[in-house]
Amino acid sequence: MRRILIVGAGQAGLHLALGLLRHGYDVTVVSNRTPGEIRGGRAMSSQAVFGTALGHERALGLDLWGDACPPIEGIQLTVPGPGGGRAIHWAARLETPARSVDQRLKMPAWMAEVERRGGKLVIHDATAGDLEEYADRYDLVLVAAGKGPIASLFERDAARSPYDAPQRALALTYVTGLVPRPEHSAVCFNLIPGVGEYFVFPALTVTGPCEIMVFEGLVGGPMDCWSDVRTPAEHLARSRWILETFLPWEAERCARAELTDDGGVLTGRFAPTVRRPVATLPSGAPVLGVADVVVLNDPVTGQGANNAAKCAASYLESILTRGGRPFDAAWMEAAFERHWETARHVTAWTNALLAPPPPHVLEILRAAGGLPEVAARFVNGFDDPSDFAGWFMDPAAAGGYLARAREREGARR
Ligand SMILES: Cc1cc2nc3c(=O)[nH]c(=O)nc-3n(C[C@H](O)[C@H](O)[C@H](O)COP(=O)(O)OP(=O)(O)OC[C@H]3O[C@@H](n4cnc5c(N)ncnc54)[C@H](O)[C@@H]3O)c2cc1C
Repeated sequence: MRRILIVGAGQAGLHLALGLLRHGYDVTVVSNRTPGEIRGGRAMSSQAVFGTALGHERALGLDLWGDACPPIEGIQLTVPGPGGGRAIHWAARLETPARSVDQRLKMPAWMAEVERRGGKLVIHDATAGDLEEYADRYDLVLVAAGKGPIASLFERDAARSPYDAPQRALALTYVTGLVPRPEHSAVCFNLIPGVGEYFVFPALTVTGPCEIMVFEGLVGGPMDCWSDVRTPAEHLARSRWILETFLPWEAERCARAELTDDGGVLTGRFAPTVRRPVATLPSGAPVLGVADVVVLNDPVTGQGANNAAKCAASYLESILTRGGRPFDAAWMEAAFERHWETARHVTAWTNALLAPPPPHVLEILRAAGGLPEVAARFVNGFDDPSDFAGWFMDPAAAGGYLARAREREGARR
């Protein structure tokens, strides 16, 4: 029985641990927070998970919430226009609804599941020195510590990291009492040129169903406005101010909004960073980085938890295929490159959306209002961002696709 240790009890670490346990591996997970600390702590994410990643979770029996978690049935896109109106405004359905289970609920439940399925859970804030000891005792050590400082053991990959500073000031506000979208539930995504993005969608949190507001303010812009906010009540008031100032239709929806709990607020910022997948310890032992440790994207496209689930599924396959052979550095590099084949599209698309939208992107977003095919393709790209490479990411390909979509729409009418 091969012995595997995973540092970090988050979306990727626990998913991979539970996958390995299903296949009979001896698994230890090291977490720097107890399940109680996670549940009673601060919200860390908005964690909307789309169909493919949900499928990976379900294949391992990890959907423990079912219909208790409200579905996210589509995505609505709005760009404000001059005079307080909406220049672009449309919605399309997701082929498979997405779901967001607050990580404060999800991770403690998955930690209990690790122990129930025979894995070991160790509460400890792992250091670089600990990794040496783990590498000596285990066949494979994976570091799935998210944005934890231990990730800095993995060297930044400058060729894959176009930004070296945060691009957005981030904030989360978990609320109840929001007026539901009348047609179907959706991520209501508002893109405010020169200011930032705001999106809001249904989720399940520690107090029950809720809506999560996500604010992505351009650094130094008017939505980068959280530094003087001290209390949860002030955080909610600042959230309302942003909506009243830039998105009056969203402000109307939240006239009666209340915080779910004092932990349902977060502010922060980080630089999107891709790192080298293997860190070599002073002894020469290699350890493999997982998910956010090695591919950290801005949350503007809501992909980090999806990427973490996809990384866990891909690494699980690579580990199973390896059989009894050693998990050496070359194998680690290959395991990462296999995951990167998927993740590189997420990174390219997410980084592109952090830049001011080029003319062809504005054209796509405008055209989608009259072309349901284009709206549906854009919306379902959130589940599989590799699709964007063939049109959205390339002005010429986008132009050709829009022309064909217009012809089809004309023929349909
Ligand atoms: C504001 C915001 C909104 C987001 N919204 C979305 C969204 O809608 N959809 C989406 O897909 N993604 C979203 N994300 C991203 C997503 O939450 C992360 O990408 C995802 O959780 C990464 O999973 P992970 O397993 O790599 O890390 P994490 O889930 O962060 O888990 C890492 C764990 O390791 C622990 N740890 C750290 N250091 C150590 C150590 N030294 N020893 C032991 N344990 C350690 C941490 O405490 C943590 O529990 C959002 C992120 C932010 C900041």
